[in-house]
Parts: sequence; structure tokens; C-alpha cells
Amino acid sequence: MLALIRALSRLPGVGPKSAQKLGLYLAQNKAEAAELAGAIEEVRLHIGTCRRCGNLAEGELCPVCADPSRNDAVIAVVETAADVLAIEKSGEFSGVYHVLGGALNPLEGVGPESLSIGALLERARDAEEIILATSMTVEGEATAAYLSEQLAPLGVKLSRPAYGLPVGGTLEYVDEVTLARALAHRLPVTE
Ligand SMILES: [Zn+2]
Repeated sequence: MLALIRALSRLPGVGPKSAQKLGLYLAQNKAEAAELAGAIEEVRLHIGTCRRCGNLAEGELCPVCADPSRNDAVIAVVETAADVLAIEKSGEFSGVYHVLGGALNPLEGVGPESLSIGALLERARDAEEIILATSMTVEGEATAAYLSEQLAPLGVKLSRPAYGLPVGGTLEYVDEVTLARALAHRLPVTE
């Protein structure tokens, strides 16, 4: 019981009080506890990362990379798989993704080598356009600036979603309409 509460309290967005409440609830509702345990185990066993883009995948490729109707010459670079979900929900984007695995953050020890930038540079050789869709945070902006420096010599077209997006926000929390508009009216990035 204590182990469960401790594990729950380590989840993002769950404080000690909520963890206790959830733990007690699960202890008293066996059917729901079993369903939750099964769903967690399913994800643990079968969900990995897409070998092409780094998105979550059940198998070798994520649903986006596996979909032949997507335009793989246009790559949206995002920080996390949650950002992929946010953009997919907007329904505005028909290209593919590249998930960096975070944003540059020297204070937290996240340098370029911690992110999947090498793989992006490889993919960029065959791309027509790369959309730098990192967050509007300081780290996201720094990451976009660093990537545009690295990508510029390859001669690929670079763009950034046209922000009327809230400064300091991550894509995950931007509403779908705003995100759709930002992606539709993206601006060229120039060195
Ligand atoms: Zn993929």
C-alpha cells in the first residue's frame, strides 16, 4: 500500500495528497485496480520508440511514419511525443515528425548530445522543409536557434510556426485552433 502511494506520488501532476487518495481508492476498487494494472503492463511491454522519428510506437514505426499518405519531405521538429499528439489533434499537419527528446537546457545538463540531433541532420538531407516547432519557452527558442544554425548549411527550407502562440508555453497546452493557425502560417527562418 505504501509502495503504491509512493509510486503514484512520483507521477507528474500527482501530489502526496492525491497519491494517497488514489491509493486508497484502488485498494477498495479491485476491478478498476486490475484494469489499470493491465493497461500499464500493456504499455510497458508493447510501447517503445519509433526508430525513424522517436515518437511513441507500437512496433518499429509510429502510426505517422507508417502512414504512406504523410508527406515525409516536411518534418516538424518537436520536443516530446506529447507535442506530436497536440499537433495531430490540430489536424492541420500532413508531414512527419522528429522528436528531439527535450530541449537544450545547459543548467540542467541537457546539451545537444542529449537530444536526437544527429538523426535529424541525417533525415534533413532528404527533406524539403523543416518546421522548428519547439516550445515558446527560453529552452525551446534556444533549441530552435541552435537547430537552424546546424541545418542552414544543408540548404533545406526552415520555418517556425507563426506565433500568436503564448510566449513561455509548451505546445501541449496550446488549444487546437491556435496550433492549427500557427502551423498553417509558418514563417521562414533566416540565418
Ligand atoms: Zn515515427
